[in-house]
Amino acid sequence: FNEIPTGYPVPGQTTVYDASQTIDLENVPLNGGFLLKTLVLSIDPYLRGRMRDASKQSYSPAFQLGQPISNYGVGVVVRSENSAFQAGDHVYGHFPFQEYFVQTQAGAFRKVDNKHNLPWNVFVGAVGMPGQTAYAAWKEYANAKKGEVAFVTTGAGAVGSLVIQLAKKDGLKVIASAGSDEKVQFMKEIGADVAFNYKTTKTSEVLAKEGPIDVYWDNVGGETLEAALEAANRHARFIECGMISSYNQTPYAVSNLMNIVAKEIKISGFIVGTLLPKYQEAFYTEIPSMIASGEFKLKEDVTKGLEGAGEAILAVQKGTNTGKSVIVVADQ
Ligand code: NDP
Repeated sequence: FNEIPTGYPVPGQTTVYDASQTIDLENVPLNGGFLLKTLVLSIDPYLRGRMRDASKQSYSPAFQLGQPISNYGVGVVVRSENSAFQAGDHVYGHFPFQEYFVQTQAGAFRKVDNKHNLPWNVFVGAVGMPGQTAYAAWKEYANAKKGEVAFVTTGAGAVGSLVIQLAKKDGLKVIASAGSDEKVQFMKEIGADVAFNYKTTKTSEVLAKEGPIDVYWDNVGGETLEAALEAANRHARFIECGMISSYNQTPYAVSNLMNIVAKEIKISGFIVGTLLPKYQEAFYTEIPSMIASGEFKLKEDVTKGLEGAGEAILAVQKGTNTGKSVIVVADQ
């Protein structure tokens, strides 16, 4: 991490790829820990929030200038001095963006139980943090009833695409938005009843025609939240998952908050880590098998090699990613 951005992160400036350091894989001291080889890393929208001045508090720690950025990843143990982790074990946890690293705090990692033989990429997407986000918050807050109407934003992304499929499974009519015609096509393929490109079609007009909405899954905030408040049904549930429209620019001032009172809307903001202990077991029981059987579909946007991480981070912020963004650092 090289420089705190003011707007969008700039590849090669905000973050730089640095090949100057090496690790002696045979002899690097393990100090009771283990040496990991990174296989896949996740690129998520919240990484932008970590590119801030460390004095500003938030729900996830700021990146340290001059240090590698970090995020969820999957790797394989190369050597180990910890009896709980053997060479060849695959683990999921928080990885520095490095090809290899020594980990001494094993508690932050869990062994990957890949009984459905899924590609490792999936464990940072639908079977990782974004999937857990969709699953846990839908179960906790949607209070979904068959025949109701849900509106899902960034519906072609890692979180949104799973939310669409969870809502359809619960028997709701799903309206979904995304920022390209290709994404609209994918949202239809995974079951959205009404899918539209918010850049070429007005959200408020679609919602006026297809609503009112009972459940709103908000990944974007801003004007879209305003349109959803206008189109909300009485006693609607708003699940506030993210507000990516303001991650790189000044937030849009939502003007119609009084709808919350008048329509008795229930608004739930959340951070996935808080819900996880309650839903983790059910998540791992249900979701991997549904992915393996093809019942739940997913789309990935794969970048090969750590060199492309800066571009991938920017693409997710700009919306030019075409699915769950992952970096494949090594195949095995
Ligand atoms: P996605 O794969 O959906 O990628 C982000 C997408 O956001 C882009 O592809 C783009 O899609 C959309 N986007 C970017 N800029 C804008 C904008 N200005 N206005 C509207 N849409 C925009 O990411 P995830 O599925 O990983 O994350 C989705 C949301 O969920 C994010 O807001 C994220 O912060 C949040 N989140 C929250 C968690 C929590 O614990 N609360 C945990 C994980 C994620 P498009 O082409 O459709 O514009």
